Amino acid sequence: MGGTGRETRFDALRLAKQAGTLSGTIDARALPQVADGLAPGPGAVPIVWTVAGAASVDGRPALSISVSGRMPLVCQRCLAPFDWVVDQNTELVLAADERELAALDERIEAEVIAADRPIDAAELVEAELVLSLPYAPRHEGACPS
Ligand SMILES: [Zn+2]
Repeated sequence: MGGTGRETRFDALRLAKQAGTLSGTIDARALPQVADGLAPGPGAVPIVWTVAGAASVDGRPALSISVSGRMPLVCQRCLAPFDWVVDQNTELVLAADERELAALDERIEAEVIAADRPIDAAELVEAELVLSLPYAPRHEGACPS
């Protein structure tokens, strides 16, 4: 698995039941919702991702998603680019369909997604990156002069 697009689609409920793992590397510049937030540059921005089938604490089918890499962002203080380290791990509980999703969303705190159709790992990774991106990226500590 790897790259972008259709080849990253999978059956989430089956992956959870089998406790299977998918992984790959994706270029963050190829993800439309992420690319806009990156510092401009010619190079690819490889993000390593893993999607593991699991069970939630209350025994529901779930996915454990991890993304890691270094994303070039523009510091909002000095406007220089810097590498921002992503190392994010998130659990998503799987609902059988939209109706169960609505019911679970009210009852449990974890994030829930509907698994009644194949899920695209690239879209999961994109959503994780969007959520983890800082609202106002800045150098940690003082900016280099
Ligand atoms: Zn700075």
